[in-house]
Amino acid sequence: MLMFGWTGVFLQVSLSKNKAVAESYDASLAPNFLGGRGFAAKILWDKLAIGIDPLSPENKLIFAAGPLTGFGLPNSGKLVVAAKSPLTGGYGDGNIGTLAAVQMRKAGYDAVIIDGKAKAPVILHVKNKTAEFIDAKDFWGLYSFETEAQLKKLYGRAAGIVCIGPAGENLVKFATVVSQEGRAGGRPGMGAVMGSKSLKAVVFEGSSDLPVAHPKEMKELGAEGYREVLAKPSYAFWKRQGTMSTVEWSQENSVLPTFNYREGVFDKAEKIGGFAMEKIKVSNRGCPQCNMTCGNVVKDCDGKQSELDYENVVMLGSNIGLGNLGQVAALNRVADELGLDTISLGNVLGFAMEASEKGLIDEKVSWGKFKETKALINDVAYRRGLGDVLAEGVQYAAAKIGGESSNWAMHVKGLETTAYDCHAAPAMALAYATSSIGAHHKDAWVISWEVQFGRGSYGEEKVDKVIELQRIRGGIFESLTVCRLPWVELGFELEWYPKFLYAATGMEFSWKTLNQIADRTFTLIRAFWVREYGRNWTKEMDIPPARWFKEPLTKGPLKGSKLDSVKYNVMLRKYYRKRGWDERGIPKKITLKKLGLSDVAKQLDKYVELSE
Ligand code: SF4
Repeated sequence: MLMFGWTGVFLQVSLSKNKAVAESYDASLAPNFLGGRGFAAKILWDKLAIGIDPLSPENKLIFAAGPLTGFGLPNSGKLVVAAKSPLTGGYGDGNIGTLAAVQMRKAGYDAVIIDGKAKAPVILHVKNKTAEFIDAKDFWGLYSFETEAQLKKLYGRAAGIVCIGPAGENLVKFATVVSQEGRAGGRPGMGAVMGSKSLKAVVFEGSSDLPVAHPKEMKELGAEGYREVLAKPSYAFWKRQGTMSTVEWSQENSVLPTFNYREGVFDKAEKIGGFAMEKIKVSNRGCPQCNMTCGNVVKDCDGKQSELDYENVVMLGSNIGLGNLGQVAALNRVADELGLDTISLGNVLGFAMEASEKGLIDEKVSWGKFKETKALINDVAYRRGLGDVLAEGVQYAAAKIGGESSNWAMHVKGLETTAYDCHAAPAMALAYATSSIGAHHKDAWVISWEVQFGRGSYGEEKVDKVIELQRIRGGIFESLTVCRLPWVELGFELEWYPKFLYAATGMEFSWKTLNQIADRTFTLIRAFWVREYGRNWTKEMDIPPARWFKEPLTKGPLKGSKLDSVKYNVMLRKYYRKRGWDERGIPKKITLKKLGLSDVAKQLDKYVELSE
């Protein structure tokens, strides 16, 4: 069937057999799941054997893009990388802004699905219809930046490259996939999955024109869209600071993770904030096809370049008690070079510092010490000593260390919380708890709305807002593989996206249809988690970390605040009802049927008895 927008082809790669086969996929997949996360969830549900070890050859590593990627449309140069997560045992994914997304689509593929394990380290080179497996022994062990630099020398600047650093090679459970010196994705260990397959990098080169339904409209819409972004009133300040101004905002509103989320304010916040960053900034960097370029490139205390945003600065700054931005930037660069997720890293480091302070571990790990922290980061990537324990993630580390440490191991479902303290933010806590991959803000960054709306409530409006954001951000944007920031930060209107979709695919998508696609994907991902956990699945999987319920803030304007467990549970039940899930957080048969997932219901019923 002739398709527009989508290429209609997946590349199936077996690293065990050195084989790559292009396959047309069922055309009904495209309008029902869109691309990116939607495709990844469907492929993993359909094709992944249940209960496999995520670091075994059986796992499938998927790179998937949406139908807008590769066209000249604002902020559309992204792909999703997904697999069963070695960190959580559930569904894992992340998006990366990378030329690899554009080149993969121009090579003719909507997704590349990789399984097996190479006999020796390998680089996969996909160039249009050909795929070759290149000996990577000279690359194994290299930092991610160096890997990409060398591959650029071989394949040219236009090649799209994703790779891993030593952390991925050493199977650190929160190793990421890295591209373009600082763009990284796949927090729940997608880099470790890549490493487990002995796959150092994938290089994409493509030269085909993408099939487009309305080429003239596409061109005009793209140009108009970019102009609209430039015309937004907050554009100029965004270019100055990107997400970094959130540091000051979080401090003001007492949501800035500090000392392993003990507090929501940090004495040295202004030293790591947006204006401090401007003093050491040298340039902007960004994803392809983006004129917002939010990566703040700064000179770090080692004299090297590091790309900063809010999350990495807070997790490697206030959360570990470090108030020197040049040093924070150096830690961030080291983590990117090693291929470690900076968020989970800052989280496990804060945990280790608290464990050391409380005498639960023999190692001396102090708050805010630059040199010692840098050494520990290397220990994590190379799995030495305490670093080896932390490399397994905070949930594992707490189980190993014991004491009361699981109360302040900050994660949901095994994925470390990101840079928003929730002592006084019930909606954000719900967003973390019900996110598709574990504690991540990507699906529903509800905190900014919650601060305006009011912190104390656990009401229905908060549940509705979380679901609304999960649909737009976690469902639609992640499946179209476009960046959420134009909408979130500049107010770029949502109405643009159905127009882009129409120009690309020739199909009209109403918001009702798009929301239903989002719900289908979200519910399928929940089904994946439940299928993997089987009878071990409980509603406790959707409860945020105990610290936020048990230990009130002791400083700042919201001193004394903590979450209320009874009210949270009522809110969670409301959330389940609105999602059409039962009291255990498991989708009901009727919900699955309504979303066109009757086959999923049939299968899931074998593992956990489904409610009608
Ligand atoms: S706004 Fe930032 S994250 Fe989004 S596409 Fe542009 S550079 Fe990438």
